[in-house]
Amino acid sequence: MCDRSAPVRTVSRTLVACLLAVACAGRASAAPAAPAAPEGHAAPAAVHRVVIDPGHGGAEDGAKGPAGLLEKEVTLDISRRLAALLRADGFEVTLTREGDDDRDLRARTATGNAQRADLFISVHANASRFKVAKGAETYVLSREATDDAARATAAVENDAANVKETTAASGDDELPLILWDLAQVQYLQESTRLAGVIQSKLCAAFGFTDRGVRQAPFVVLRGAQCPAVLVELGFITNPDEEKLLSNPDHRRRLAEVLAEAIRQFRSEVGSGAPR
Ligand SMILES: [Zn+2]
Repeated sequence: MCDRSAPVRTVSRTLVACLLAVACAGRASAAPAAPAAPEGHAAPAAVHRVVIDPGHGGAEDGAKGPAGLLEKEVTLDISRRLAALLRADGFEVTLTREGDDDRDLRARTATGNAQRADLFISVHANASRFKVAKGAETYVLSREATDDAARATAAVENDAANVKETTAASGDDELPLILWDLAQVQYLQESTRLAGVIQSKLCAAFGFTDRGVRQAPFVVLRGAQCPAVLVELGFITNPDEEKLLSNPDHRRRLAEVLAEAIRQFRSEVGSGAPR
C-alpha cells in the first residue's frame, strides 16, 4: 500500500494547478470541473480564512437516525455555531452552504479554493449498520482507506451525493484523478496535524476511544488547496448518539471543541512550531 501520509514537497503547487486546469479543460465532458486554484497559493504561514462545509443539504439528507434526525440538519447547525465562534475570534469564515441547499461535492472544494482558504473542514455525522458503533472520527484524504470501516464511511459519504469514487480509474479519467489527489497531497502533513488536534480534543472532551487520524478517499477533500479534514462528530445511527446530536447543548459543545482545535492549529502554525 502506498503511504499517502508522506508529503510530496517536491511537487510544485503552481505546476499542479496548471496541470489540473489543462487536464480538466481538455476533458470537459469526462472530468470534474477544475477547482478555482490560485497559482502559487503556498501552505498557510498563518491561518485566517476558514471554509466550513456542512455536509449534505437540500435533497440529500445524508444519514438518518432511528428517531428521524437528519445528518444535514445537524451538520448545518454545528457549522453555523462553529462559524460564529471563529468569527468572534477574528477568523474570516465562509460556509459552503448557508441553508438547506443542494451543493455538489466538488463545488464545495472549489469554494474553499476560490476563498483562498487556509483551512477547510467538512462536518458530518457518521452512519453504520451496527447500531453500537459510536464515537468521533477525523479523516484526511487518501486514495487508500485506513481499513474497511474507513472505506465504508467514505463510500457512504460519496454515494450520498451520487458520486462514485474511483480509486483505480482507467483510461482518460485516470490523469485528472491523480492530479486532483496531488492538489491535496502536498498539504497532507498539515491536514494530518490539524486532524490530530481535532481528534485528540474531541476524545478528551467526550471520552471517545481515540482511533487516531484516519484516511479514506473522500471526494470533498480531493483538490483542496489547503489543509483539509473531514470530521464525523458521532454516529447518528446509534440511538444514544442520535439523542446527543439532537441536543443543542451537545452541539454547542461540539462546536466549541472544534473551535478550540482550530485555534490551537492556528497558534502552532503561527508560532513556527515544527510542521
Ligand atoms: Zn455525511
